Amino acid sequence: MNTDNKKLLVKTFILMISVYVIVLGIAYALFKGYAIEENESKLQDLVMHNKALHTYVEEQLKPVIYKLKEEGKIEKDYFDPKILSFTYMSRKIMDEYNKQRTSNNIETIAYKFASQNPRNPINKANENEEKILKIFNAKEINKYHEHLKEQGKEYIFYAMPVTTNVESCMRCHSDPKYAPKSLLELYGDKAGFYEKVGDIRAFMSVTMPLEVELKKTVRMITLFAFTLFALLLAVFWIIFYFIRQLDTRDKKLLEQANKDALTKIYNRHVFNQDIEKLNPQRKNIGQFLIMLDIDHFKDVNDTHGHPTGDTVLIRLSEIISKNIRDHDKFYRIGGEEFAIISLHSTLNDALEFAERLREEIKASSFEKVGSLTVSIGISQLRVGDTGSKLFDRADKALYNAKKNGRDQVQAYMDLE
Ligand code: GH3
Ligand code: MG
Ligand code: MG
Repeated sequence: MNTDNKKLLVKTFILMISVYVIVLGIAYALFKGYAIEENESKLQDLVMHNKALHTYVEEQLKPVIYKLKEEGKIEKDYFDPKILSFTYMSRKIMDEYNKQRTSNNIETIAYKFASQNPRNPINKANENEEKILKIFNAKEINKYHEHLKEQGKEYIFYAMPVTTNVESCMRCHSDPKYAPKSLLELYGDKAGFYEKVGDIRAFMSVTMPLEVELKKTVRMITLFAFTLFALLLAVFWIIFYFIRQLDTRDKKLLEQANKDALTKIYNRHVFNQDIEKLNPQRKNIGQFLIMLDIDHFKDVNDTHGHPTGDTVLIRLSEIISKNIRDHDKFYRIGGEEFAIISLHSTLNDALEFAERLREEIKASSFEKVGSLTVSIGISQLRVGDTGSKLFDRADKALYNAKKNGRDQVQAYMDLE
C-alpha cells in the first residue's frame, strides 16, 4: 500500500478512535445524568409518601386521638410517639422499608429527620445539617442536593424541608404546659418545645445510594460501547476495503506508466526522470550509464519474423536482469536499445561488468535465433553533468562500439 493511502488509513483510524472516545464520553455523561434523574424521581416518590403520611397523621389521626381524649375515652395526658409523632412513625416505616431493601439485596437508604431541637436525640442535626436548616428557615432555597462518593460507592445526598409546623403540631411543640404529661415524662420539657407555626422544625435528610441506577448505566453504556464499536469497525472496514481497491488500481496504473509492456522492465519515461535525478556530488562511488544495442536486430526480424524478435527482446531483458546488482536499474529505452544505471568504484570496474554482461549474452541461446551479440557504450557521470550530456556521451560510446565492428564495449573516456 502506498504511503499516502497508509497515512489516510492511519488518519481515519485516529479519527474513528477519537469519535469513539468522544461519543462514549458524551453517552456516559447522558446515561449518568439519566441515572441521577431516575434516582431523584425515586426521592420525589419518597418525599410525597412522607408528606402524605404527615398530612394523614396531622389531619386524620391526631384529631381522632384528641377527640377520644376530650370524650375521656383516652386519658388527657396520654402520649405515645407510635401514634402521635409523625417523625417517629416516619422513621419506623423507613426502618421497615430498609429491611425490605436489605432482604432484596438493595443497599439501604440513610434517612433522618434532622432537627436543631429534636425530642429524640437521634434526630439531632449535625454541623452540616444545622447549616442547611438555617438556609431553609431563611427560605433561601427549598431543596438541597449533593453528589457523594464514599468508599468507591456513589450516593446522592438530598435535604428537603417536609415538616413545616402546622396548628396541630403546636399542642406538643409550643409551650410545654399544653403538652400531654406522658410526653413530658418521656422527653422532658425542653426538647422540641417553644416552636411556632410556619417554622421548619426539621428537614428530611436522605442519602440515596446510586448503586441500582449506576448498574443500569453500566449495562447501557456497555451495550452502547459494543454497538458503536461494531458500527465503527464496519465503517472502517468499508473504508479500508475501498482504499485497498484504489491502491491496487493506483499500483496497476503506475506500473502501466513506468514499465515497458513487452519486457516488463522500466521504460524510457522512467529512464528520463532517473538520469535527471542523478547527483554528481556523490562521493567515493562512480555512477555509470551503460547503453546496449542488439547487433543486426533487423536481420532477426527479417529472418524469423517480428514475434520471434519480441521473444528475443524478452529473453534478453531476463538475462540482463539476472546479471545486474540490486542497486543497478535497468531500462528499455528504445526498440532494441537498453540502458543500465550502475554504481562502480572505478571506470575499469564498470568496463569489466559490461564486458561480463556482453559475454553472458553472447554465450546465451535464443529460441529459433540461436546466439546474438550486443554493442555497449559506457559513460561516467561527471561534476556539473546533466542527464542529457551523460546520455549523449554514452550514445557516442555505443556508436563507436558499432563503428568498430560491434560485439564490444566502449567507454566514452577512451575517446577523449
Ligand atoms: P545495428 O544496431 O547493429 O546497427 O543493426 P540493427 O539491425 O539492430 O539496426 P537498427 O537499430 O536500425 O534496427 C532496430 C530494429 O529493431 C528495427 C525494428 O524493426 C526493430 N524493432 C524495434 N522495436 C521492436 C520491437 O518491439 N519488436 C521487434 N520484434 N522488433 C523491434
Ligand atoms: Mg538500435
Ligand atoms: Mg541494433
